[in-house]
Amino acid sequence: MKHTKIVTTIGPASESKEALRSLAVAGMNVVRLNFSHGEHSWHRDVINRVREVSEELGQPIGILADLQGPRIRIGNEDEISVSEGQKIRVSDISHKEEFSSSDMPTVFLDVAGISDSLEAGHQILIEDGTIRLSVTDRVDGSISAVVEIAGLIKPRKGVNLPDSKLNLPILSEKDHKDLSFVLKEGVDFVGLSFVGSAADIESARETMRAELGADVRLPDIVSKIERKEAIRNIDEIIKATDAVMVARGDLGIEMPESEVTLLQKDIIRRSLMAVKPVIVATQMMKSMTESPIPTRAEVSDVTNAVVDHADAVMLSEESAMGKYPVETVSMMREIITKTEESPFDDVYCALDFNIRSESAVIIRSVYELAKSFKAKSILLFSLSGHTAKIASHFRPDTGILVATNNRRTYNQLALVWGAKPYLFEGDNNHATFVDKMVEKAKQDGSLSVGDQTVVFLGRVPGEYDNMRLVGIREIR
Ligand code: PEP
Repeated sequence: MKHTKIVTTIGPASESKEALRSLAVAGMNVVRLNFSHGEHSWHRDVINRVREVSEELGQPIGILADLQGPRIRIGNEDEISVSEGQKIRVSDISHKEEFSSSDMPTVFLDVAGISDSLEAGHQILIEDGTIRLSVTDRVDGSISAVVEIAGLIKPRKGVNLPDSKLNLPILSEKDHKDLSFVLKEGVDFVGLSFVGSAADIESARETMRAELGADVRLPDIVSKIERKEAIRNIDEIIKATDAVMVARGDLGIEMPESEVTLLQKDIIRRSLMAVKPVIVATQMMKSMTESPIPTRAEVSDVTNAVVDHADAVMLSEESAMGKYPVETVSMMREIITKTEESPFDDVYCALDFNIRSESAVIIRSVYELAKSFKAKSILLFSLSGHTAKIASHFRPDTGILVATNNRRTYNQLALVWGAKPYLFEGDNNHATFVDKMVEKAKQDGSLSVGDQTVVFLGRVPGEYDNMRLVGIREIR
């Protein structure tokens, strides 16, 4: 069993039920739906097919709805060619009439009022930073910039303002509509793009809470770390979020490319310490969009993320529109498995973590017990998934088999390193979950007669309320 999970973006290359089934069999654990593309009806069809495949295969598949977020784009209707050293004006669509007919070429950003956040010295990065402007001065609301990297500025291309404090709501109008839709569809994770602070996460959570009401469990929030401001506020963001994505595409635009791997390592370490699942995303196997084999550098990239003990690695265009989506997932799985079996994967000493609760400390002993007795698996019972996440934090060599009766927990654990969840939906007899799980695990080959396991029952409601049971158990 592989411990590191695979998140797979779905698109035209992988949308059919047959493709989704093949991807799940090959090693996909979580499906990512990119809401920058596709109609709601398309997303709904994919969600339904994923749920069917999950049911038919008897394995959890998490669904991550990745919202587009407040992306800034070029608001000009025509292309503008700019050359190095040229002086131009920058504004936004609220000043379109004022500047459209002026002699000075003007680049318009498509968000009203966004030019208020530009100050002298700030950079304006267009189309993944392939065109770069630098603000020289702003006088009476008119902003001058000099072209540092020349090119052809095309309508609708994406813009990054890495130095500016953007006073944009974390959810755009489109995001509100998409969020409403995905909440109704019951997705397991919501991806927030361009998060800058903990307040962004709280605001999205409040929106979800208002929509769903106080009693309904919310999807987990995956905060995408892709802005310079997010790097500045990384600790408060990790504290506030449910899970983290190192979104290396935009991160490599806002920060120097040469620092992206170092930032990735740092974000993984901080997320592990905070017991928050962390995904490494973008360009992991990019050449497999066109080629049946990866480059050696891509193999190294996946190996590196596994050695650093990220919870998951992610595919984007490779699986959404590539020629070899299933082969790419299979290759990723092979790299993960070989790396996890190698001694290089063992260079990890359980990081200290900042949860000081009785059960967290007991779970540490569960991990130590499993290590000392060379147990095959840790057997848990987890209703919210929290106990399983803490066990996973220690990155044990053993399996982590988790019994739950909550479908959301079952699907969300698909993202958590090493967790293999078993669902007992509608069953409230918690005390018997682990026994039932052992039977299922014997059937699927996860456990065999004679295996040593360590059992941890976090909380046994009813007669044994709040009693925590730990022990070695040999499978019979
Ligand atoms: C990224 O920028 O790396 C990323 C995952 O975000 P998106 O693909 O949504 O732009």
